Parts: sequence; C-alpha cells; structure tokens
Amino acid sequence: MTFHAWFECFAGCGVRYDLTQIVYRCEACGGLLEVRHDVEALKTRSAAQWKQLFDSRLGRSSGVWSKKEVVLPELDERSIVSFGEGNSPLIKSERFARHLGIEEIYIKQCGTSHTGSFKDLGMTVLVSMVNQIRSKIRAVACASTGDTSAAVSAYCAAAGIPSIVFLPKDKVSIAQLIQPISNGAITLSIDTDFDGCMKIVQEITKDESIYLANSMNSLRVEGQKTISFEIVQQMDWQVPDFVVVPGGNLGNISAIGNGFLLMRDMGLIDCLPRLVCAQTEKANPLYRSYREGFQRLEAVTAGSTYATAIQIGNPVSFSKAVRALRATNGIVEQATEAELVQAAAEVDRFGFFNDPQTGVALAATNKLVKALSIPASSRVVVISTAHGLKFAEFKSRFHQGQIPVSDTSLQNPPTSVPADVNAVRAAINGRIPA
Ligand SMILES: *Cc1c(COP(=O)(O)O)cnc(C)c1O
Ligand SMILES: [Zn+2]
Repeated sequence: MTFHAWFECFAGCGVRYDLTQIVYRCEACGGLLEVRHDVEALKTRSAAQWKQLFDSRLGRSSGVWSKKEVVLPELDERSIVSFGEGNSPLIKSERFARHLGIEEIYIKQCGTSHTGSFKDLGMTVLVSMVNQIRSKIRAVACASTGDTSAAVSAYCAAAGIPSIVFLPKDKVSIAQLIQPISNGAITLSIDTDFDGCMKIVQEITKDESIYLANSMNSLRVEGQKTISFEIVQQMDWQVPDFVVVPGGNLGNISAIGNGFLLMRDMGLIDCLPRLVCAQTEKANPLYRSYREGFQRLEAVTAGSTYATAIQIGNPVSFSKAVRALRATNGIVEQATEAELVQAAAEVDRFGFFNDPQTGVALAATNKLVKALSIPASSRVVVISTAHGLKFAEFKSRFHQGQIPVSDTSLQNPPTSVPADVNAVRAAINGRIPA
C-alpha cells in the first residue's frame, strides 16, 4: 500500500506542495501550511490492523518512526536521524489524583527524551527531511525559548548538518543554553525576546539554503502529533476525557489536536478528548482570544515569567490551535506566577520532578477541577513538556526561599549539621513518624 502526504495551505485555498520543497507559507495567500495525509489510503487498513501493527512495534526505539505511515510515509528510511525519541512514559498517580480530587490523572513525561523536551519528536522529522534534501541546504536555523535550539543542534550534529540558533539573551536556563553550545551550533544570544528572535530568523531563512526549524514549519507538527497516538495506545486504545497542554507558540497543542483527529478519521478511536491549553498570565494571547470567542488574535508583549519556554506574545500557530480547540470543545485557562510555582512544587511531592511549563498546565488543571469545568469523574492527561532538570535553578530558588510565595510549607532546604551522630539524630527526630 502506498501512503501519501503533502503540504497544503491551512487557510483553505487548496494550494499543495511536495514535502521535499522548501516552503513555509502558502505562496498564493501567505497563510500557514499544514501536512495533510491521504486518509482514504490509511483507511484501507482496518482499525484492528493498525492497532496490531503499532502494538507489534512497541519495542522499537523511536516512538515517532514506529508510526511512520502517519508521519512521513514517503521518507526514505535511510534519511532518518533519530535518538530514540518518543515512547515516553505515561505515568498514573493515584495519590496525586486523590490530592486533586479527580478520578484519574496521568502525566505524559515528554521530557524523558534525548534533549529533555518534546521538541525532539518534531525535530527528528524535520532533520530527517533535511537529510533527504541536504544538497540544497547549507544550515538549519531556529528561534527558540531554549528547547528547540537544544533539539535542532543535537539532531543536526548527528547528521553532520550545521545549525544556527537564535536565543533571547538571559531568557533561557543554563541547561538549555549549554546544549547547543556543546553540540557545536552557531549560538546567537540576541538582545530581544522570543518574538524578536522569530522575526529575525524568518528574515534569515528567506535564503532558501538556510532551512527554518520552527514549528511554523509544519513538518515539526507531524512528529509531535505522535504524542496523541502514544497516549491512546498506552491507555489500551482508550481516550482520556481531557488532555492539558502548556502553550506558547501553539505548535504542540495543534499537533496533539491533529493526532486525535487523524486517529478518529482512521477509525482508531470513536470520540475525542477535550483539549485544554494552559498559558501563563504573563503571555496569554490565546487565553484572551478564547474569552472573546476566538474572534481574533491580539499579540501581547510577553512579560517575564518562570515559565520561560512559553514566554511568547505573538504565537505563530494561533489559527491551528483555534481549530484544534474548536474541534475538541476545548478550554483555555491561565495561571499566575504564584499558581505555577505552587503547582510545580506540589506535584514533586508525589515523586515527579516537573518544569515550570508543566507547572502552568497543572495549575490550570487544578483551577478547572475546582471550577467543576473538569468534572471529578474525569480521566485527565497532563502533558509534561520538559525535564525538570533543565530548570534546576528555578527549583533550587524555590526551595531556598528566593521565590516569594504565600505558602512556604513545601520549601525543603537542606539542613546543615555537624559531623556528629547525636546532632544528626536531633536533626531527624520529629521529622519522621515516631
Ligand atoms: C516549546 C515548549 C512549550 C510550548 O510549546 P508550543 O508548541 O510553542 O506551544 C512548552 N513547554 C516547553 C518545555 C517547551 O519547550
Ligand atoms: Zn493559501
């Protein structure tokens, strides 16, 4: 069976391009492009056959390429650049569910990945395509709030392709900054914010030999949409009631929406989860638009936030996110700095180690449960987008009391004790059950 996918204008003017073409926007109307699949061809296999096929590949190293037919069916296998991305754990916590007051909560640990964030899922697809057409390309470039640049530089280094990353100065963590540096990327620290970097990279990549790796390039979205396939597969092909995703540039919520819609079109599932996009109050253009019925996008200047990976005021994939939210009867919620700090610290007490963006998603979940917008009987999946180790400074500052919070009970700084057994006993006594 031959499966087929292509770029098509998202604005609906019908223009199509081959996936090997270097094109990021519709040349007719300037709108975003998306990757479309020949669903009729995919439907020549039954749902049972697809499930059996995907289940039979579960041991494979890459979660993305074990779904190649719904990602990039025509890519030459020899072009694939992979670090065994995907197949990330979906962790159910009964104790945390009781704490939140809901039936079931799962955290999809997308940060358990080669460079520590879900960006690997999209980057393996994009860089594999670049690898296939590399005679036309001198370098790959992206603007980044930290994690995209880590992924670009690692995958490009693996394939021997030069990479250039544009980072907003002093707005990414040390762990994020050191990744492209170590992988040999041309690392530009620019005195602006993410939105400023995004404008510059779009200018630079007008030179077609410098390939754009931001999620405006819809190849990224194709890899990221496997998150939805994995969730459903990990839940024994059942669909959760809600999937909560922290959103910045809004590529990931769009991708997750696409994944569920394609599974429904293929007959793998017969209902959709309600998607929830969680934004920080400091960078909430989607939330504001949601409150006005998604009539329009009004860009904001993103304020300073602990959730630096979503400090974005002018999200490129706004219209795609709106489609995903409308199609799934979705919700947009926001979280304040105090709420995200508290939520990130709380979940860690259940054994997790989550980043501030996931803190935003968890805070939003908490608020929606309290408001009964998420009923207590729900099965909820929260997408954890990065590994907490990328944000060790944030966590360290919290526990050292350097982040102003009203509730200090979760702060757990180390206790200094002399090297004396009695002093050590005294330090422990009273802190564990007698
Ligand atoms: C990129 C990123 C996001 C936001 O994803 P978008 O697709 O830009 O909405 C959220 N969390 C982390 C950790 C990220 O790296
Ligand atoms: Zn168009």
